[in-house]
Amino acid sequence: MRLSRYFLPVLKETPAEAQIASHRLMLRAGMIKQASAGIYSWLPLGFRVLKRIEQIVNEEQIRAGHIPMLMPTLQSADLWRDSGRYDDYGEEMLRITDRHGRDMLYGPTNEELVTDIFRSYVKSYKDLPLTLYHIQWKFRDEIRPRFGVMRGREFLMKDGYNFDLTKEDALHAYNRHLVAYLRTYERMGLQAIPMRADGGPIGGDYTHEFLVLADTGESEVFYDSQVTDLTFGDRDIDYDSVAQCQGVLDEFTSRYARTDETHDAALFDQVPEERRRVARGIEVGQIFYFGTKYSDALGATVINDKQEQIPVHMGSHGIGVSRLLGAIIEASHDDKGIIWPEGVTPFHCGIVNLRQGDAATDGACADLYAALTKAGLEPLYDDRDERAGAKFATMDLIGLPWRITVGPRGLKNGVVELTSRKTGESVEMSAEDAVARIVEIYRDI
Ligand code: ATP
Ligand code: MG
Repeated sequence: MRLSRYFLPVLKETPAEAQIASHRLMLRAGMIKQASAGIYSWLPLGFRVLKRIEQIVNEEQIRAGHIPMLMPTLQSADLWRDSGRYDDYGEEMLRITDRHGRDMLYGPTNEELVTDIFRSYVKSYKDLPLTLYHIQWKFRDEIRPRFGVMRGREFLMKDGYNFDLTKEDALHAYNRHLVAYLRTYERMGLQAIPMRADGGPIGGDYTHEFLVLADTGESEVFYDSQVTDLTFGDRDIDYDSVAQCQGVLDEFTSRYARTDETHDAALFDQVPEERRRVARGIEVGQIFYFGTKYSDALGATVINDKQEQIPVHMGSHGIGVSRLLGAIIEASHDDKGIIWPEGVTPFHCGIVNLRQGDAATDGACADLYAALTKAGLEPLYDDRDERAGAKFATMDLIGLPWRITVGPRGLKNGVVELTSRKTGESVEMSAEDAVARIVEIYRDI
């Protein structure tokens, strides 16, 4: 993409309404525009990152054997009356009446709808296990929407639902989700720590929230510092293997890590004092096993091998797709702007032309652009007639991990400059070598 033809409305001023870095930077970098409280338009740069995050979520869900689909945003109130949640949900639910006077709602989540789909088609235990998921907009009329996309009213969520014959099978689905989530967040350059959370009225041990540590996080968390040493890495895992998935869950959840809702001071005291940490975190996902709550209420049963009609065991599993942009920026920025991890960057690298209009630099930039594009990468070429300082400031603000700078002086010596956004380090090399380096960096991403 050539910047002169793109739509990147960066702001010079720091918006006064934004209290935290990610919100400020998303506004300044022209990624989002507030449409009304807690509701945003995704401008082209923000939209690109949102799509990248969605893509990683999709790839990891599919790798785990989960099946993508799409359910609508608007739902009929009747199903929610059957599950008993229409009244329970309270004021966070946006209720709508259509022209025929029928009660509708903008879905805050999809347990009812997906259970209705299941019960309409699935009759036999032979069709299990089954996990369906979608990535769809949700609406929750949050009392205090704030921090930009972090706590919106309209927000994008991946929500998945497993249907299993037995509790054991459903717990395997739970563990599978935990593994898939660990991989998902790591690919985005994030450490998200599974922490034991509150199961709400259902209770039980079967819910974990994934938290990204950040001072601006809304949750208070208590953990053993050893949990921050764990990484999933690129290990090969068989998602059908009960033992392997259980092993990962055990490894990642055996040390103390809880949100304030389930914090147990006496247990925490057993962690060696030098490893006890009290901090803040951003909830970027949650997994949940809830047994037969919805299948009982809505009559989602299958016939087992003894010809008995039994309710299926279910769980639901959510990732805050739009919130993740905020969380990633909170975890990765400096005073100049965003620093995108390579996994989610809106463009793979920037090209800065230091002398626009000069035949040699224009030509060299065009060649670089063509070579990168041919290699399957998406560069953003700043071909505007601007000062070098302004071009660098824009690149730093929007946070592309790599920048290639092309100027007449370097070209005389046959070199361009490759700069890392993260370290600020610059290295001179030939244009061909710069392309090869960038291709190499993104090879496994
Ligand atoms: P919170 O405690 O932050 O209100 P929640 O526990 O009610 O969230 P879930 O029902 O677990 O949310 O939804 C799954 C994921 O969706 C959350 O882990 C979070 O990342 C994201 N999410 C929830 N509410 C919002 C919101 N208002 N804005 C953006 N993302 C949200
Ligand atoms: Mg939650």
